[in-house]
Amino acid sequence: MIISVASGKGGTGKTTVSTNMALAIDRDVNFLDCDVEEPNAHLFLNPEIEKSELVDTPVPKVNLELCNQCRKCMDICRFNAITVVGEKVLVFSELCHSCGGCMLVCPEGAITEIGRELGTIEYGKTDHITFTHGKMRIGEAMSPPLIKEVRKSVNPEDLTIIDAPPGTSCPVIAAINGVDFVLMVTEPTPFGLHDLKLAVEAVKLLGIPSGLVINRSDLGTRDVYDYAQEQNIPVLLEIPFDRKIAETYSRGKTIVEAMPEWTDKFQKLFYDIEQIVES
Ligand code: SF4
Ligand code: SF4
Repeated sequence: MIISVASGKGGTGKTTVSTNMALAIDRDVNFLDCDVEEPNAHLFLNPEIEKSELVDTPVPKVNLELCNQCRKCMDICRFNAITVVGEKVLVFSELCHSCGGCMLVCPEGAITEIGRELGTIEYGKTDHITFTHGKMRIGEAMSPPLIKEVRKSVNPEDLTIIDAPPGTSCPVIAAINGVDFVLMVTEPTPFGLHDLKLAVEAVKLLGIPSGLVINRSDLGTRDVYDYAQEQNIPVLLEIPFDRKIAETYSRGKTIVEAMPEWTDKFQKLFYDIEQIVES
């Protein structure tokens, strides 16, 4: 089973929920931090990193001696990543989506591929958790290809928990597409509700079952609860605002470590998800 933990916006406690659930579960867990722009689950899980590898993506390289300036490469590129200017062909590799179309249509065989570095993937382990995260190269604009590489670490034998990037755009879709359940983390504020609605729309479009964790549940209004009821999305856990939880987070500790009474609640969260997926 693959569970993605997502949130319409950053700062709602998504990583708190994913890491605490992973630690609370009494079985092997495959944990993938797909928040590749700002991975921070390792700060709470403290895995021992055993392996690191660079990830790149193919982008075109043009041999001008073979090029006849026919412009076919430029015409096929939907992303304006390759253009013909006079006798030159310019490649804007940061815009390239590595589809390979330009190479296929070039009648002169003038285009070959070189690698553009996307970032690094690190693999590690801590107790019952096998850990993988991606770190996007500074200056890199496209995270979905790196997220897809991180997702290759899914072990079908184990439970997989994915810490998805915040938001509702392409990186989130790359982290939730094809999973068995999306656990959305929100807070009961107007901003939380606004971004939750966008996240719910995306999850419904993909046809994935979902549930809600409401963080700082005793602050704000009941609007998020009313919306969840309207949309038939179960509220699976409420985490009230608690100074001790906030202090625990700021010290890089997890709730279940500092307050073991929360272990049962995070275990129940997982069992409830399991029941929904199996029903
Ligand atoms: S590989 Fe695809 S996206 Fe990249 S330049 Fe060629 S046609 Fe454009
Ligand atoms: S398709 Fe090939 S030959 Fe035509 S302009 Fe592009 S690189 Fe040159």
